Amino acid sequence: MLRRRRLAVMSTHTSPLARAGTTKAGGMNVYVADLSRHLADVGWEVDVFTRRDRIDAPDVEELAPGARLFNVDAGPPVGLPPIEIGAHVSEFTSGVEQIVARREPYDLIHSHYWVAGLSGIELSRQWQVPHVVMFHTLGAVKEVFQQPEPPFRIAGERRVIACADAVIGATSHERAFLIGQYQADASRVQVVPCGIDLDSFHPAGVDESRRRVAAALPELGVENGPGILFVGRLEQAKGADLLVRALPLIESQPSTSLWIVGGDERDEDERARLRALAVECGVEHRVKFVNAVDRRRLPDLYRSAAVCAVPSAYESFGLVAVEAMASGTPAVATRVGGLASTITHGKTGLLVGNRQPEGFASAIDQLLADEALRQRMGVAAAAEMTVFSWRSVTRSILGVYEDLLSERDISGAQRESCCPDPVESLLVAAS
Ligand code: UDP
Repeated sequence: MLRRRRLAVMSTHTSPLARAGTTKAGGMNVYVADLSRHLADVGWEVDVFTRRDRIDAPDVEELAPGARLFNVDAGPPVGLPPIEIGAHVSEFTSGVEQIVARREPYDLIHSHYWVAGLSGIELSRQWQVPHVVMFHTLGAVKEVFQQPEPPFRIAGERRVIACADAVIGATSHERAFLIGQYQADASRVQVVPCGIDLDSFHPAGVDESRRRVAAALPELGVENGPGILFVGRLEQAKGADLLVRALPLIESQPSTSLWIVGGDERDEDERARLRALAVECGVEHRVKFVNAVDRRRLPDLYRSAAVCAVPSAYESFGLVAVEAMASGTPAVATRVGGLASTITHGKTGLLVGNRQPEGFASAIDQLLADEALRQRMGVAAAAEMTVFSWRSVTRSILGVYEDLLSERDISGAQRESCCPDPVESLLVAAS
């Protein structure tokens, strides 16, 4: 009988089981959990390694049949920002080695985000297996949007890009950025989009969906009519405030509500800021909040909305927009990053060229005023999003893995000579 392929996944700074839509958990967590499950479905054995961030986290948990999650001791067992986790990379790497020493070897390593990539480099050298990395967000991209990032992060990303056997970007825009800004070797950068679960995210009876949302999340008041939906972490770069400012400028349906879904009790300050802004704009009775919801509720929420608004400063892919469109709801989003490639302007949603409330108000107004247009776009959106099915994304990821496994000996030599200095030297060099 053929031995099952074994994959080690590094997800150091955040767990795939963390609640998406809260401070430190979003698209990457969803992606790691979903990809692990889909790879296990096609016969791979998948072990995901994350840093233990709470004392009572079990050593091993099941993610799905064939996919496990290991909580590895590295630094204090509390939530830490990624940059602080950078100081515990060597500890994390040794922790993984200790766990793995008692088990069968892996065929390949797939790391997510730069902190994980630093451990991935070291482990791939020790185990002599290929290393694939995805960044999900890049420090240099954030800098373009005036969000300065610590030099240690950029140096860490550069090292990971120089040493990984393959780098996967979610869009051709990310690929161009990796090559242009980080001097990645173009032959090693592949584009594979993120996947979505079409069994969950698809059009279905809107009345039924609304009834379920009304019962589960009465705070939103969905029975009063379709609202403008924002789903995501409550951080400034996501731009929920921009929608609050846009609300009084919407003329066609002046009573439409804005539903802000995301965050948890740690985000009370941000929510208070948004509430104060709503009062200032005279729309406090139209802005409704609920904490991050379980993903199983999201398809009904998307279907209940008139539009899903994604006014982000940047999205490397932007799962929320794709999930909404797959559920049959048009997206209105900033023309940046992944959003500019997943949304076909005028067909599946509307792209807004600058992050000003006026532009978002006018785009949302256009859709609110014309139900037939909204429905046409919803139908077209759901049809277009089928390209992001997990079945096809898993196949593409496996293609990257299989190519590397077949050229293993060639890349082994390069791996040996790449970045021989310990990871701590990065910290010193960047400080
Ligand atoms: N999400 C969720 N519940 C919420 C809010 C968000 O499950 O209440 C999920 C959402 O479905 C999506 C992910 O969090 O899959 C956010 O991914 P996206 O790429 O839009 O943004 P990121 O958080 O990665 O910046």
